[in-house]
Amino acid sequence: MTRIYPHIVVAKFGGTSVADFDAMNRSAAIILADHHVRLVVLSASAGVTNLLVELAAGLESRDRQDKIDTLRAIQHNIISRLKQPEAIGQEIDHLLENISRLAETAASAPSAALSDALVSHGELMSSLLFVEVLRERGVETEWFDARKVIRTNDHFGCAEPVISAIAELAEKQLRPRLEQALIITQGFIGSDAAGHTTTLGRGGSDYTASLLGEALQANRVDIWTDVAGIYTTDPRIVPQAQRIDEISFSEASEMATFGAKVLHPATLLPAMRKNIPVFVGSSKDPSAGGTRVCCNAENPPHYRALAVRRKQTLLKLHSVNAQPAHAFLADMFAILSRHHVAMDLVTTSETSIALILNATGATSGEADTLTTSLLTELSSHCRVEVEADLALVTLIGNALSRAAGICQQVFAGMENHPVRMICHGASSHNLCFLLPADSADNAIKTLHRSLFE
Ligand code: ASP
Ligand code: MG
Repeated sequence: MTRIYPHIVVAKFGGTSVADFDAMNRSAAIILADHHVRLVVLSASAGVTNLLVELAAGLESRDRQDKIDTLRAIQHNIISRLKQPEAIGQEIDHLLENISRLAETAASAPSAALSDALVSHGELMSSLLFVEVLRERGVETEWFDARKVIRTNDHFGCAEPVISAIAELAEKQLRPRLEQALIITQGFIGSDAAGHTTTLGRGGSDYTASLLGEALQANRVDIWTDVAGIYTTDPRIVPQAQRIDEISFSEASEMATFGAKVLHPATLLPAMRKNIPVFVGSSKDPSAGGTRVCCNAENPPHYRALAVRRKQTLLKLHSVNAQPAHAFLADMFAILSRHHVAMDLVTTSETSIALILNATGATSGEADTLTTSLLTELSSHCRVEVEADLALVTLIGNALSRAAGICQQVFAGMENHPVRMICHGASSHNLCFLLPADSADNAIKTLHRSLFE
Protein backbone atom coordinates (compact mmCIF):
# COMPACT_ATOMS: atom_id res chain seq x y z
CA MET A 1 0.00 0.00 0.00
CA THR A 2 1.43 3.39 -0.87
CA ARG A 3 1.11 5.97 1.81
CA ILE A 4 -0.10 9.45 0.92
CA TYR A 5 2.06 11.98 2.71
CA PRO A 6 0.83 15.45 3.58
CA HIS A 7 2.23 18.38 1.61
CA ILE A 8 5.61 19.26 3.11
CA VAL A 9 7.80 22.25 2.37
CA VAL A 10 11.25 22.44 3.96
CA ALA A 11 12.37 26.04 4.41
CA LYS A 12 16.01 26.95 5.01
CA PHE A 13 17.12 30.37 6.25
CA GLY A 14 20.73 31.44 5.79
CA GLY A 15 22.95 33.44 8.14
CA THR A 16 21.73 36.88 7.06
CA SER A 17 18.11 35.72 7.45
CA VAL A 18 18.73 34.97 11.13
CA ALA A 19 21.41 37.62 11.71
CA ASP A 20 19.47 39.51 14.39
CA PHE A 21 16.02 39.83 15.95
CA ASP A 22 14.52 41.78 13.05
CA ALA A 23 15.87 39.36 10.46
CA MET A 24 14.48 36.46 12.50
CA ASN A 25 11.09 38.15 12.60
CA ARG A 26 11.08 38.65 8.83
CA SER A 27 11.92 34.96 8.42
CA ALA A 28 9.18 34.01 10.87
CA ALA A 29 6.66 35.97 8.80
CA ILE A 30 7.68 34.06 5.67
CA ILE A 31 7.09 30.75 7.46
CA LEU A 32 3.73 31.84 8.80
CA ALA A 33 2.59 32.93 5.34
CA ASP A 34 2.82 29.35 4.03
CA HIS A 35 1.16 26.65 6.12
CA HIS A 36 2.88 23.96 4.02
CA VAL A 37 6.19 24.83 5.69
CA ARG A 38 6.55 22.04 8.27
CA LEU A 39 10.29 21.91 8.76
CA VAL A 40 12.69 24.84 9.14
CA VAL A 41 16.46 24.49 8.74
CA LEU A 42 18.65 27.31 10.03
CA SER A 43 22.20 28.54 9.58
CA ALA A 44 24.12 30.21 12.36
CA SER A 45 23.56 33.98 12.60
CA ALA A 46 25.76 35.86 10.10
CA GLY A 47 29.40 36.02 11.14
CA VAL A 48 29.10 33.43 13.92
CA THR A 49 30.59 30.46 12.05
CA ASN A 50 33.60 32.54 10.99
CA LEU A 51 34.27 33.44 14.62
CA LEU A 52 33.90 29.82 15.70
CA VAL A 53 36.23 28.62 12.93
CA GLU A 54 38.86 31.07 14.18
CA LEU A 55 38.42 29.82 17.74
CA ALA A 56 38.73 26.23 16.55
CA ALA A 57 42.08 27.01 14.91
CA GLY A 58 43.45 27.70 18.42
CA LEU A 59 43.83 31.30 19.61
CA GLU A 60 45.69 32.83 22.51
CA SER A 61 43.67 33.64 25.59
CA ARG A 62 43.23 37.38 24.83
CA ASP A 63 42.10 36.86 21.22
CA ARG A 64 39.88 34.05 22.36
CA GLN A 65 38.13 36.32 24.82
CA ASP A 66 37.61 38.98 22.14
CA LYS A 67 35.92 36.49 19.82
CA ILE A 68 33.75 35.09 22.59
CA ASP A 69 32.68 38.60 23.61
CA THR A 70 31.68 39.29 20.00
CA LEU A 71 29.72 36.03 19.90
CA ARG A 72 27.99 36.86 23.17
CA ALA A 73 27.03 40.30 21.88
CA ILE A 74 25.40 38.82 18.75
CA GLN A 75 23.33 36.39 20.83
CA HIS A 76 22.39 38.86 23.57
CA ASN A 77 21.27 41.47 21.03
CA ILE A 78 18.63 38.97 20.02
CA ILE A 79 17.81 37.83 23.55
CA SER A 80 17.33 41.39 24.78
CA ARG A 81 14.49 41.89 22.29
CA LEU A 82 12.53 38.87 23.56
CA LYS A 83 9.61 39.35 25.94
CA GLN A 84 10.83 36.51 28.14
CA PRO A 85 14.61 36.52 27.93
CA GLU A 86 15.54 34.71 31.20
CA ALA A 87 15.36 30.98 30.50
CA ILE A 88 16.70 31.20 26.95
CA GLY A 89 19.41 33.61 28.12
CA GLN A 90 20.65 30.99 30.54
CA GLU A 91 20.56 28.29 27.89
CA ILE A 92 22.61 30.41 25.47
CA ASP A 93 25.08 31.35 28.23
CA HIS A 94 25.56 27.66 28.89
CA LEU A 95 26.43 27.11 25.21
CA LEU A 96 28.81 30.09 25.30
CA GLU A 97 30.57 28.46 28.25
CA ASN A 98 30.91 25.27 26.21
CA ILE A 99 32.38 27.30 23.37
CA SER A 100 34.86 28.89 25.72
CA ARG A 101 35.92 25.53 27.11
CA LEU A 102 36.30 23.92 23.67
CA ALA A 103 38.23 26.95 22.38
CA GLU A 104 40.64 26.63 25.27
CA THR A 105 41.24 22.98 24.43
CA ALA A 106 41.66 23.90 20.75
CA ALA A 107 44.44 26.29 21.74
CA SER A 108 46.54 23.46 23.12
CA ALA A 109 45.29 20.46 21.13
CA PRO A 110 43.37 21.48 17.99
CA SER A 111 41.71 18.71 16.00
CA ALA A 112 39.17 18.39 13.22
CA ALA A 113 36.72 16.58 15.49
CA LEU A 114 37.00 19.26 18.16
CA SER A 115 36.58 21.94 15.51
CA ASP A 116 33.28 20.44 14.35
CA ALA A 117 32.02 20.15 17.92
CA LEU A 118 32.88 23.80 18.41
CA VAL A 119 31.49 25.29 15.18
CA SER A 120 28.21 23.35 15.58
CA HIS A 121 27.33 25.75 18.40
CA GLY A 122 26.49 28.50 15.90
CA GLU A 123 23.51 26.58 14.52
CA LEU A 124 22.54 25.29 17.98
CA MET A 125 22.26 28.87 19.26
CA SER A 126 20.42 30.35 16.25
CA SER A 127 17.86 27.53 16.24
CA LEU A 128 17.16 27.85 19.99
CA LEU A 129 16.66 31.59 19.63
CA PHE A 130 14.45 31.23 16.59
CA VAL A 131 12.15 28.85 18.47
CA GLU A 132 11.64 31.60 21.07
CA VAL A 133 10.92 34.21 18.39
CA LEU A 134 8.22 31.95 16.92
CA ARG A 135 6.78 31.02 20.31
CA GLU A 136 6.40 34.67 21.18
CA ARG A 137 4.37 35.02 18.00
CA GLY A 138 2.08 32.26 19.28
CA VAL A 139 3.29 29.46 17.02
CA GLU A 140 3.47 25.87 18.25
CA THR A 141 7.09 24.89 17.58
CA GLU A 142 9.53 22.20 18.57
CA TRP A 143 13.34 22.45 18.56
CA PHE A 144 14.89 19.38 17.00
CA ASP A 145 18.53 18.29 17.11
CA ALA A 146 19.55 17.64 13.48
CA ARG A 147 22.33 15.32 14.67
CA LYS A 148 19.68 12.70 15.44
CA VAL A 149 18.94 12.39 11.73
CA ILE A 150 21.85 13.74 9.66
CA ARG A 151 24.12 10.70 9.84
CA THR A 152 27.49 11.23 8.16
CA ASN A 153 30.87 9.56 7.90
CA ASP A 154 33.65 10.79 10.19
CA HIS A 155 35.38 13.05 7.67
CA PHE A 156 35.28 16.01 10.07
CA GLY A 157 35.10 19.45 8.45
CA CYS A 158 33.50 18.17 5.27
CA ALA A 159 31.57 15.02 6.18
CA GLU A 160 29.63 12.95 3.67
CA PRO A 161 26.00 12.15 4.49
CA VAL A 162 24.84 8.54 4.64
CA ILE A 163 21.65 8.78 2.58
CA SER A 164 20.03 5.49 3.58
CA ALA A 165 20.57 6.09 7.30
CA ILE A 166 19.19 9.62 7.01
CA ALA A 167 16.05 8.30 5.29
CA GLU A 168 15.48 5.74 8.03
CA LEU A 169 16.18 8.13 10.90
CA ALA A 170 14.00 10.87 9.39
CA GLU A 171 11.12 8.45 9.02
CA LYS A 172 11.39 7.38 12.65
CA GLN A 173 12.42 10.56 14.42
CA LEU A 174 11.20 13.40 12.29
CA ARG A 175 8.07 12.51 10.35
CA PRO A 176 5.86 11.76 13.39
CA ARG A 177 6.86 15.13 14.90
CA LEU A 178 5.95 17.07 11.76
CA GLU A 179 2.32 16.22 12.40
CA GLN A 180 2.44 17.75 15.90
CA ALA A 181 4.24 21.05 15.47
CA LEU A 182 6.40 23.20 13.27
CA ILE A 183 9.92 21.76 13.60
CA ILE A 184 12.98 24.01 13.85
CA THR A 185 16.34 22.38 13.28
CA GLN A 186 19.96 23.17 12.41
CA GLY A 187 21.62 23.08 9.04
CA PHE A 188 25.28 22.18 8.53
CA ILE A 189 25.67 19.78 11.47
CA GLY A 190 25.36 16.02 11.73
CA SER A 191 26.86 13.12 13.61
CA ASP A 192 28.86 10.05 12.73
CA ALA A 193 27.97 6.48 13.72
CA ALA A 194 29.79 6.90 17.03
CA GLY A 195 27.75 10.01 17.87
CA HIS A 196 30.50 12.60 17.29
CA THR A 197 29.36 15.93 15.89
CA THR A 198 30.36 16.50 12.26
CA THR A 199 29.80 19.31 9.73
CA LEU A 200 28.96 19.21 6.02
CA GLY A 201 31.47 21.88 4.97
CA ARG A 202 31.03 25.65 4.78
CA GLY A 203 27.62 26.73 3.56
CA GLY A 204 26.32 23.22 4.30
CA SER A 205 22.91 24.28 5.64
CA ASP A 206 21.48 24.32 2.13
CA TYR A 207 22.63 20.74 1.79
CA THR A 208 20.93 19.76 5.07
CA ALA A 209 17.66 21.23 3.79
CA SER A 210 17.73 19.21 0.60
CA LEU A 211 18.89 16.04 2.40
CA LEU A 212 15.92 16.34 4.75
CA GLY A 213 13.65 17.20 1.83
CA GLU A 214 14.79 14.02 0.12
CA ALA A 215 14.37 11.88 3.25
CA LEU A 216 10.84 13.18 3.83
CA GLN A 217 9.95 13.26 0.13
CA ALA A 218 9.06 16.91 0.50
CA ASN A 219 7.09 18.74 -2.16
CA ARG A 220 9.49 21.67 -2.24
CA VAL A 221 12.64 23.03 -0.61
CA ASP A 222 12.82 26.80 -0.14
CA ILE A 223 16.22 28.41 0.32
CA TRP A 224 15.88 31.90 1.79
CA THR A 225 19.01 33.99 1.49
CA ASP A 226 19.91 37.65 0.93
CA VAL A 227 19.55 37.71 -2.86
CA ALA A 228 16.27 37.30 -4.69
CA GLY A 229 17.32 34.21 -6.65
CA ILE A 230 20.09 33.05 -8.95
CA TYR A 231 21.57 35.60 -11.34
CA THR A 232 23.42 35.35 -14.66
CA THR A 233 26.50 36.31 -12.66
CA ASP A 234 27.33 37.87 -9.30
CA PRO A 235 25.58 41.29 -9.40
CA ARG A 236 28.41 42.69 -7.26
CA ILE A 237 30.76 42.12 -10.21
CA VAL A 238 28.29 42.97 -12.97
CA PRO A 239 25.37 45.20 -11.93
CA GLN A 240 23.62 44.34 -15.24
CA ALA A 241 23.31 40.68 -14.19
CA GLN A 242 19.79 39.36 -14.69
CA ARG A 243 17.73 37.13 -12.46
CA ILE A 244 17.02 33.67 -13.84
CA ASP A 245 13.37 32.76 -13.17
CA GLU A 246 13.67 29.07 -13.90
CA ILE A 247 16.74 26.89 -14.25
CA SER A 248 17.35 23.15 -14.49
CA PHE A 249 18.96 21.12 -11.72
CA SER A 250 22.01 20.37 -13.83
CA GLU A 251 22.65 23.98 -14.78
CA ALA A 252 22.18 25.24 -11.22
CA SER A 253 24.38 22.54 -9.76
CA GLU A 254 27.13 23.40 -12.27
CA MET A 255 26.81 27.02 -11.14
CA ALA A 256 27.20 26.02 -7.50
CA THR A 257 30.13 23.72 -8.24
CA PHE A 258 31.92 26.43 -10.16
CA GLY A 259 31.63 29.04 -7.45
CA ALA A 260 28.24 30.76 -7.62
CA LYS A 261 27.78 31.41 -3.93
CA VAL A 262 23.98 31.10 -3.81
CA LEU A 263 23.87 27.36 -3.11
CA HIS A 264 26.18 24.85 -1.48
CA PRO A 265 27.49 22.71 -4.40
CA ALA A 266 25.94 19.42 -3.25
CA THR A 267 22.52 20.90 -2.47
CA LEU A 268 20.83 19.95 -5.69
CA LEU A 269 21.89 16.28 -5.71
CA PRO A 270 19.23 15.08 -3.22
CA ALA A 271 16.62 17.30 -4.87
CA MET A 272 17.49 15.83 -8.26
CA ARG A 273 17.29 12.26 -6.98
CA LYS A 274 13.73 12.81 -5.78
CA ASN A 275 12.76 15.46 -8.31
CA ILE A 276 11.93 18.04 -5.64
CA PRO A 277 11.81 21.64 -6.91
CA VAL A 278 14.00 24.11 -5.06
CA PHE A 279 13.08 27.77 -4.73
CA VAL A 280 15.68 30.44 -3.99
CA GLY A 281 14.51 33.83 -2.72
CA SER A 282 15.41 36.74 -0.46
CA SER A 283 14.09 36.85 3.09
CA LYS A 284 14.64 40.62 3.02
CA ASP A 285 12.27 40.99 0.11
CA PRO A 286 10.11 37.89 -0.37
CA SER A 287 7.75 39.73 -2.72
CA ALA A 288 10.63 40.19 -5.20
CA GLY A 289 10.21 36.53 -6.18
CA GLY A 290 13.15 34.30 -6.92
CA THR A 291 14.46 31.40 -8.95
CA ARG A 292 12.80 28.02 -9.31
CA VAL A 293 15.24 25.17 -9.83
CA CYS A 294 13.54 22.13 -11.29
CA CYS A 295 13.96 19.10 -13.44
CA ASN A 296 13.69 20.75 -16.85
CA ALA A 297 13.70 24.45 -17.49
CA GLU A 298 11.74 25.68 -20.48
CA ASN A 299 13.80 26.63 -23.57
CA PRO A 300 17.23 26.33 -21.96
CA PRO A 301 19.58 28.88 -23.58
CA HIS A 302 23.13 28.13 -24.79
CA TYR A 303 24.54 30.65 -22.34
CA ARG A 304 23.05 30.54 -18.86
CA ALA A 305 25.46 32.10 -16.40
CA LEU A 306 29.05 32.97 -15.49
CA ALA A 307 30.59 31.84 -12.22
CA VAL A 308 33.95 32.39 -10.60
CA ARG A 309 35.83 30.27 -8.12
CA ARG A 310 38.70 32.02 -6.44
CA LYS A 311 41.78 30.75 -4.56
CA GLN A 312 42.53 28.05 -7.08
CA THR A 313 45.87 26.32 -7.34
CA LEU A 314 47.26 24.73 -10.48
CA LEU A 315 49.31 21.60 -9.90
CA LYS A 316 51.41 20.39 -12.82
CA LEU A 317 53.07 17.01 -12.83
CA HIS A 318 55.70 16.22 -15.47
CA SER A 319 56.85 12.69 -16.17
CA VAL A 320 60.62 12.27 -15.82
CA ASN A 321 60.96 8.56 -16.58
CA ALA A 322 60.14 7.41 -20.08
CA GLN A 323 56.94 5.80 -18.81
CA PRO A 324 54.00 5.11 -21.12
CA ALA A 325 51.29 7.77 -20.67
CA HIS A 326 48.71 5.38 -19.21
CA ALA A 327 51.10 4.17 -16.51
CA PHE A 328 52.10 7.72 -15.60
CA LEU A 329 48.46 8.81 -15.32
CA ALA A 330 47.56 5.74 -13.26
CA ASP A 331 50.47 6.26 -10.85
CA MET A 332 49.80 9.95 -10.33
CA PHE A 333 46.05 9.56 -9.77
CA ALA A 334 46.70 6.71 -7.33
CA ILE A 335 48.85 9.07 -5.24
CA LEU A 336 46.31 11.89 -5.44
CA SER A 337 43.55 9.53 -4.42
CA ARG A 338 45.49 8.22 -1.43
CA HIS A 339 45.91 11.80 -0.21
CA HIS A 340 42.20 12.62 -0.74
CA VAL A 341 43.12 15.55 -2.96
CA ALA A 342 40.09 17.71 -3.75
CA MET A 343 40.48 18.31 -7.47
CA ASP A 344 38.09 18.58 -10.33
CA LEU A 345 39.41 19.87 -13.64
CA VAL A 346 42.22 18.03 -15.35
CA THR A 347 44.04 18.33 -18.65
CA THR A 348 46.69 15.90 -19.77
CA SER A 349 49.32 15.53 -22.45
CA GLU A 350 51.53 12.53 -23.03
CA THR A 351 54.06 13.52 -20.39
CA SER A 352 52.24 16.01 -18.16
CA ILE A 353 49.12 16.39 -16.10
CA ALA A 354 47.67 19.74 -15.06
CA LEU A 355 44.95 19.81 -12.46
CA ILE A 356 43.09 22.37 -10.44
CA LEU A 357 43.01 21.95 -6.69
CA ASN A 358 39.83 23.11 -5.11
CA ALA A 359 39.49 23.15 -1.35
CA THR A 360 37.26 26.15 -0.91
CA GLY A 361 34.55 24.04 0.78
CA ALA A 362 36.00 22.44 3.91
CA THR A 363 35.46 23.99 7.33
CA SER A 364 39.13 23.39 8.02
CA GLY A 365 40.17 25.66 5.14
CA GLU A 366 42.39 25.46 2.10
CA ALA A 367 45.74 25.03 3.73
CA ASP A 368 45.59 21.28 4.07
CA THR A 369 45.25 20.23 0.42
CA LEU A 370 48.85 20.58 -0.66
CA THR A 371 50.42 18.82 2.29
CA THR A 372 54.13 18.27 2.59
CA SER A 373 53.63 14.53 2.53
CA LEU A 374 51.71 14.78 -0.77
CA LEU A 375 54.37 17.01 -2.34
CA THR A 376 57.16 14.73 -1.14
CA GLU A 377 55.51 11.66 -2.56
CA LEU A 378 54.74 13.32 -5.90
CA SER A 379 58.28 14.74 -6.17
CA SER A 380 59.80 11.31 -5.86
CA HIS A 381 57.93 10.24 -9.03
CA CYS A 382 57.81 13.32 -11.22
CA ARG A 383 58.67 16.99 -11.53
CA VAL A 384 56.11 19.09 -9.66
CA GLU A 385 55.11 22.66 -10.41
CA VAL A 386 52.64 24.62 -8.30
CA GLU A 387 51.01 27.87 -9.35
CA ALA A 388 48.82 29.72 -6.84
CA ASP A 389 46.69 32.90 -6.95
CA LEU A 390 44.48 31.74 -9.77
CA ALA A 391 40.75 31.96 -10.38
CA LEU A 392 38.47 29.75 -12.40
CA VAL A 393 35.93 31.52 -14.59
CA THR A 394 33.21 29.23 -15.90
CA LEU A 395 30.56 29.73 -18.53
CA ILE A 396 27.55 27.56 -17.74
CA GLY A 397 25.06 26.67 -20.41
CA ASN A 398 23.55 23.98 -22.58
CA ALA A 399 24.93 21.96 -25.48
CA LEU A 400 28.14 23.98 -25.20
CA SER A 401 30.33 21.20 -26.52
CA ARG A 402 28.03 20.46 -29.44
CA ALA A 403 26.72 23.69 -30.89
CA ALA A 404 28.68 25.31 -33.72
CA GLY A 405 30.21 28.73 -33.27
CA ILE A 406 30.32 28.65 -29.47
CA CYS A 407 34.11 28.61 -29.19
CA GLN A 408 34.54 31.45 -31.61
CA GLN A 409 32.06 33.63 -29.75
CA VAL A 410 33.36 32.80 -26.27
CA PHE A 411 37.07 32.88 -27.07
CA ALA A 412 36.63 36.28 -28.73
CA GLY A 413 35.55 37.59 -25.30
CA MET A 414 38.68 36.09 -23.74
CA GLU A 415 41.03 37.59 -26.30
CA ASN A 416 42.89 39.92 -23.96
CA HIS A 417 43.07 37.64 -20.95
CA PRO A 418 46.09 35.52 -19.99
CA VAL A 419 44.34 32.13 -19.89
CA ARG A 420 46.37 29.48 -18.03
CA MET A 421 44.21 26.45 -18.79
CA ILE A 422 40.93 25.66 -20.59
CA CYS A 423 38.54 22.80 -19.92
CA HIS A 424 35.84 22.04 -22.43
CA GLY A 425 34.16 18.93 -23.67
CA ALA A 426 33.68 16.58 -20.73
CA SER A 427 30.42 18.29 -19.81
CA SER A 428 28.18 20.00 -22.33
CA HIS A 429 27.15 22.35 -19.52
CA ASN A 430 30.40 24.19 -18.91
CA LEU A 431 33.43 25.80 -20.42
CA CYS A 432 36.14 26.79 -17.94
CA PHE A 433 39.06 29.17 -18.02
CA LEU A 434 41.79 29.33 -15.42
CA LEU A 435 43.19 32.84 -15.08
CA PRO A 436 45.43 34.86 -12.77
CA ALA A 437 43.23 35.90 -9.85
CA ASP A 438 43.39 39.60 -10.64
CA SER A 439 42.01 39.23 -14.17
CA ALA A 440 38.93 37.18 -13.24
CA ASP A 441 36.51 40.05 -12.65
CA ASN A 442 37.47 41.69 -15.91
CA ALA A 443 37.01 38.47 -17.82
CA ILE A 444 33.54 38.09 -16.32
CA LYS A 445 32.61 41.63 -17.24
CA THR A 446 33.72 41.20 -20.86
CA LEU A 447 32.07 37.81 -21.24
CA HIS A 448 28.83 39.02 -19.64
CA ARG A 449 28.72 41.98 -21.98
CA SER A 450 29.29 39.90 -25.12
CA LEU A 451 27.15 36.86 -24.21
CA PHE A 452 24.35 38.15 -21.98
CA GLU A 453 23.69 41.86 -22.47
N1 ASP B 1 26.97 28.31 9.28
C1 ASP B 1 27.65 27.52 8.28
C2 ASP B 1 28.60 28.39 7.49
O1 ASP B 1 28.67 29.57 7.71
C3 ASP B 1 26.73 26.78 7.40
C4 ASP B 1 25.80 27.63 6.57
O2 ASP B 1 25.64 28.81 6.82
O3 ASP B 1 25.22 27.12 5.62
O4 ASP B 1 29.32 27.89 6.68
MG1 MG C 1 24.74 29.86 2.49
